[in-house]
Amino acid sequence: MIGTGVLKGMAVTMRNFVGSYFEEDRLTTVQYPEERAPLPENYRNFPFLPFDGEDPHAGLRCVACKICEKECPPQCIYIVKSEDKKPDYIGKPQFYPKVFNIDISVCMSCQICVEVCPFEAIKMDKVFELSRQERFDALLMRKSDLAKSNDYYHTIHPTEAAEVDANLAAAAAAKKKPA
Ligand code: SF4
Ligand code: SF4
Repeated sequence: MIGTGVLKGMAVTMRNFVGSYFEEDRLTTVQYPEERAPLPENYRNFPFLPFDGEDPHAGLRCVACKICEKECPPQCIYIVKSEDKKPDYIGKPQFYPKVFNIDISVCMSCQICVEVCPFEAIKMDKVFELSRQERFDALLMRKSDLAKSNDYYHTIHPTEAAEVDANLAAAAAAKKKPA
């Protein structure tokens, strides 16, 4: 019969509309910004730089190898490598980024920088309320904006962060093992 599909669609709409008054999981609208829908664990938007311990400089995992800068499709990462070295998370002296900027007005959240980083040093964040009133450089995130603790990483992506910790611990143990 002509129109059966439309009637079925309207029945689904009515069932959800009436059901939303009685069943919470049918209520898909939240009163933003007073309320916020919980984000799924694998939600991602822009990258950040996890650091170990309390000090963002000492604990920064990034060694300024620039692989992410080269691989970023829209070229929105800008890194200047340090001339000196600092100890990394296992005490080995490493270069670090003197400058690490990401222009998030250009970033397309593809996560390629995360995939190519050999040091678990860049991960995807969940912060999305980033609009600014200024126009010039407003969305240019500098190293001080991007560095966030490993504890923070555990709060936003607990499963992934636990896997990364295990990988880093295994890599550190393998390096310490006598040949
Ligand atoms: S998420 Fe993609 S676009 Fe954004 S900085 Fe990383 S590689 Fe570049
Ligand atoms: S974030 Fe990773 S890939 Fe990018 S420069 Fe640092 S260590 Fe290299």
